Amino acid sequence: MSTATLTPVKPNAKKPATPETATPHKHLDFNRITDEQFLVAAEHMKLEKEIQMLLRTPYRELIVQIPVRMDDGRLELFHGYRVQHNAVRGPYKGGLRFHHEVDLNEVRSLAALMTWKTALVDIPFGGAKGGVTCDPTKMSRKELQGLTRGLTQKIDMVLGVHRDIPAPDVNTNAQVMAWIMDEYGKKHGYTPAIVTGKPVNLGGSLGREEATGRGTTIITREACKAFKIDLKKSTVAVQGFGNVGSWASRFIHELGAIVTAVSDVKGGIFNGHGLDIPKLVEHCKKTGSVVDFPGSKPISNDELLTLDVDILIPAALGGVIDRNNVSQVKARMIVEAGNSPITPRADDSLRKRNVIVVPDILTNAGGVTVSYFEWVQNLQQVRWELDHVNAQLEKKMVSAWDSVYRVHTEQKLPLRIAAYVVSLGRVAEATRQRF
Ligand code: GLU
Repeated sequence: MSTATLTPVKPNAKKPATPETATPHKHLDFNRITDEQFLVAAEHMKLEKEIQMLLRTPYRELIVQIPVRMDDGRLELFHGYRVQHNAVRGPYKGGLRFHHEVDLNEVRSLAALMTWKTALVDIPFGGAKGGVTCDPTKMSRKELQGLTRGLTQKIDMVLGVHRDIPAPDVNTNAQVMAWIMDEYGKKHGYTPAIVTGKPVNLGGSLGREEATGRGTTIITREACKAFKIDLKKSTVAVQGFGNVGSWASRFIHELGAIVTAVSDVKGGIFNGHGLDIPKLVEHCKKTGSVVDFPGSKPISNDELLTLDVDILIPAALGGVIDRNNVSQVKARMIVEAGNSPITPRADDSLRKRNVIVVPDILTNAGGVTVSYFEWVQNLQQVRWELDHVNAQLEKKMVSAWDSVYRVHTEQKLPLRIAAYVVSLGRVAEATRQRF
């Protein structure tokens, strides 16, 4: 018997006036943050109130309990979430994250971001997100597999190749997707298109693993061109050396930029002359962290954010640049590779100082774009060559950048709001056509 419960969706009424507090970022009201960004764009566009009402709340929220028999014999109870925000342009699409700070409110915000992201790169998907509140770093492979299979069984009724297609996110990867596909297949038969970001051997797309980092690099390159920043002479700091940060560092390094600092959960490293990224990747594979990389100086994650660099790429969790540290941020351009790394108050302050902020829904849309290519390949049972995947990704990202930059210059809007204007326009149009 399923233990899933469908919860009613409450509108974003009666929220505190400001989403930002002085507390650590885990207490940030992420949903309020994305809602505030949405409203600025919606009001600018004079979007009909009816459409605003539909787009401000998710379609469906599912909270499930997932009991897992742990290795020591204990039964531990986890909570899992799947929020489906909007599907007027296509099936719900978005990642699953495993993290101890995951809660419904954060997942709700991330689900909405997915709707704007898929619309921005113009792929036929809506937006969803899911997660489990857990600490995967303290779990064995067997426990993680049990958790993933449990989650799949409990959210099965809202998934589907043409309904909702999960993917990797923070602390989930191709292996987790393989377990989901396998578990889903037990009930429904062979269904590779039920998840994206699978191992290539099981129907994953070539180029999917590095797609978010590649997309981030394409957007950084385009932004530098537009704002006349010489990327080859630029220094770059990257916070987060997970899937997104490590690939973005590699590609940006390949374009000739000087990556002077990177960090992960264990700490950061700095070398003013630039880090040898390919060697660092090797070091990371061997030791599991960037720390103690020969020839580098240790720095903290907080110090990395305030380094004197041309380009700062936060590629980790949300809310890392807030009102407390924003005045010390020295970068000329911030490229948001992670979701919601800048709080609204920090965003205002950066805008006043003319710091260029390239928004998350544009920067990190490369991942879901190649997820779309994977889904298409699975549905057709064909395989694309890597060059083809990369060429199509390049086209999608450049075209998204061009649309955002055009609105930014023509309507004199910050890039973030310009991105929302493009996305909202597309989602609103599809909504009107369906109603
Ligand atoms: N988790 C990624 C994101 O936030 C990818 C989602 C997907 O591929 O569906 O964009």
